[in-house]
Amino acid sequence: MDCHKIIKDTYVQILDIENKGAIATYIPELGKVDPAHFGVCLTTNDGTQYTAGDAHISFSIQSIAKVLSLSFALSLGHTSIWQRLDVEPSGSAFNSLVQLETENGIPRNPLINAGAIVVCDILCSHLKDPKNELIEYIRDVANDPTINFSDKIAQSEKSNGYRNVALVNFMKSFGNIKNDVNQVIDLYFYLSSIEMTCCQLSKTFGYLANGGKQLITNKEILTRSQSKRVNAIMQTCGFYDAAGVFAYHVGLPGKSGVGGGIVAVLPNAYTISVWSPKLNERGNSYRGMKFLELFTDTTHETIF
Ligand code: GLU
Repeated sequence: MDCHKIIKDTYVQILDIENKGAIATYIPELGKVDPAHFGVCLTTNDGTQYTAGDAHISFSIQSIAKVLSLSFALSLGHTSIWQRLDVEPSGSAFNSLVQLETENGIPRNPLINAGAIVVCDILCSHLKDPKNELIEYIRDVANDPTINFSDKIAQSEKSNGYRNVALVNFMKSFGNIKNDVNQVIDLYFYLSSIEMTCCQLSKTFGYLANGGKQLITNKEILTRSQSKRVNAIMQTCGFYDAAGVFAYHVGLPGKSGVGGGIVAVLPNAYTISVWSPKLNERGNSYRGMKFLELFTDTTHETIF
């Protein structure tokens, strides 16, 4: 596959279509991002990177980070995680409360907000300094000490985070949050605030294309079995109520974020990340989805 040519040609074709959607303004800091940004980076399992556009500009990865906090909890050996959340697609919006009431405060999966908040609670229960240990874990997975939270974005989300505060309190009322709700939701807001470039993001997620092992170093981040399970959860739950649409059009396990990022994985081959801030009606990057659809239609390389 001529990655360089396919990436460049696909990028130009997507640039030519109307950039529909809207940027996420419910987090005020995200509302300040230039909606015209558009970057792509593909990292093959040998570490080679192919880029287009704004691949070296940092952005808030938001919910994409939920895959990393989940990997952290799994790597700590807490299988009890699956007594506190499920592995089923929600079919509802990322921040929905609806199913929690009828399902006893147990989130459908770890990639919706409720599930990621429970994972943050588990980290709070098992770590002495959760926030610092989380960012150190992510820097270790990324093999990049420059990865960081964005205080500005975390505080901006916190200033308007009523829905997530409701989620953490609602689950606390069911006994599915064990720690102080303020500590748990603060960890969640900082997790969401992590910033990366497309190049950093696709390299960081390389372990999920490489049987759980970090690219180049082959350091074990997850077991092969855990890596399989995380990819499966991304495939079925990574795009919330558009998980089916992403599987149908793109055919790769992936995860989106309201900062306009998407990362997708072709196991044993590559990891690709796309960033375009304008979101479709289901909170996923409009151009990101279009790029990945055309990309896999061109390469014919999917898990299907
Ligand atoms: N921090 C965002 C929220 O909780 C993440 C949503 C997303 O990226 O899908 O609303």
